[in-house]
Amino acid sequence: MSIDALAATLRETLRPDQVLTDRQQLRTYECDGLAHYRVIPGVVVFPRTADECAAVVRACAATGVPFVARGSGTGLSGGALPHADGALIVTSQLRSIIEVAPEDERAVVEPGVINLQVSRAANPHGYYYAPDPSSQQICSIGGNVAENSGGAHCLKYGFTTNHVTGVQIVTPDGDLVRLGGRAPDVPGYDLLGAFVGSEGTLGIATEVTVRLVRLPETVRTLLAAFPGTDQAGAATSAIIAAGVVPAAVEMMDALAIEAAEAAVRCGYPGGAGAVLIVELDGPQAEVEAQFAAVEDFCRQHGAFEIRIAADDAERALFWKGRKSAFAAVGRISPDYIVQDGVIPRTALPQVLTRIGEIAAEHGIRVANVFHAGDGNLHPLVLFDETVTGQAERAEAVSGAILDICVQHGGSITGEHGVGIDKAKHLPRMYSEDDLDTMQLVRCAFDPRGLANPGKVFPTPRLCGEVPGRRKGAHPLQEAGVAEVF
Ligand SMILES: Cc1cc2nc3c(=O)[nH]c(=O)nc-3n(C[C@H](O)[C@H](O)[C@H](O)COP(=O)(O)OP(=O)(O)OC[C@H]3O[C@@H](n4cnc5c(N)ncnc54)[C@H](O)[C@@H]3O)c2cc1C
Repeated sequence: MSIDALAATLRETLRPDQVLTDRQQLRTYECDGLAHYRVIPGVVVFPRTADECAAVVRACAATGVPFVARGSGTGLSGGALPHADGALIVTSQLRSIIEVAPEDERAVVEPGVINLQVSRAANPHGYYYAPDPSSQQICSIGGNVAENSGGAHCLKYGFTTNHVTGVQIVTPDGDLVRLGGRAPDVPGYDLLGAFVGSEGTLGIATEVTVRLVRLPETVRTLLAAFPGTDQAGAATSAIIAAGVVPAAVEMMDALAIEAAEAAVRCGYPGGAGAVLIVELDGPQAEVEAQFAAVEDFCRQHGAFEIRIAADDAERALFWKGRKSAFAAVGRISPDYIVQDGVIPRTALPQVLTRIGEIAAEHGIRVANVFHAGDGNLHPLVLFDETVTGQAERAEAVSGAILDICVQHGGSITGEHGVGIDKAKHLPRMYSEDDLDTMQLVRCAFDPRGLANPGKVFPTPRLCGEVPGRRKGAHPLQEAGVAEVF
């Protein structure tokens, strides 16, 4: 059945404004936060309930049409890139906060709910939702679940996977099923764990039960300026080695500071080669004692200026520079790649030095912004597409950075996911047997490969094949509708 026929079927049960086929309107959804991949979807659908979402997926399954889930479209790995002959299922109308249950420390929300709204709903009860991606004012909980998103405060509190206790999902066949629940653990295989971080390849989350965390008694934040990243990295290691677990430790290098200043005038100390933002939270007495130790460690490792946030406004200003850093880089470079890799924290000095060397060899500038506490790097590779060869050199630097991360025992992605962008990089970390084993999990949920095809894995393989037999092309590949790497 063609996309037109699928759209006609969907219009029989949904309102006209829930099914878009006008090409101009479809263009709005042609990319996510990674705008250099663009595909106009075949049809865009806005279910308003879980049942409607299931009905849409059932219609796709009945007609063999692939589908891609989309939350707010802020993903940075092309995970929500549409399929030209497929349905893009957007969760923006699934926006109810179904329940806030402080007595159970849980909230139950629909997938299109914006991350920050969960905390806003929980705050009056003395609670909040801890995972805080820098995009938290716009990204959806469904997208967070699919990407296992992190954020500045995940150093102490853990990633999305540590805060989701249950989901209701639509399987790729269109069935509504529940994984996990309200209780912290369920017997049997951890299918919830498999779903969180599966990037829309195992089905669509239609309801999410999250943990709520008590608001801390006190929060204290400092900004320390260092001559360079080596000293700031050494201070980070010293703080954590001393047994202090800050809520967040974030680092920005000189180029990232320059960009943030140009964009949001955050007033970071002049002449800094690196700044650290360190935040402690918890019981007042403990925070006070540890805060003094953190200041000492920063000074011992070369901090030449330390500012302590006097109030919430100043604290917000410290964070404003950091949280706007990705977009701010647009002020100092017409184009840039946001890279995302992980290394063991102790490897920071060697890795940053090596990144600097590779950038210099290629004549490319790299600004570094990262979650220093857990070694999650976000090198921003700057280039100008109008200069011949610069985009290619930036791409080469970006790929080399991932090699450096893997060589140091790290990973090709910390929190932005694999999506379409990094599928080709997975073999840098995994053998073919590893990938085949993961593919078996995908095939158990989605034997026909209809859920977000072409994403995450380097080559769409035929489900049902025994590992080792990789010759047959995937039907979607043969039909030319799945991207092949
Ligand atoms: C300025 C900026 C800062 C960012 N900072 C961070 C950060 O600090 N930490 C971080 O981790 N990420 C960060 N991101 C990346 C991005 O915001 C996260 O990956 C976020 O979780 C994506 O949510 P979304 O709603 O926009 O999802 P989308 O981009 O719409 O989709 C992302 C993936 O999730 C799938 N998906 C969406 N909804 C569902 C659902 N209901 N069920 C199943 N699959 C679904 C999609 O198919 C896709 O594969 C940042 C992005 C930007 C633009």
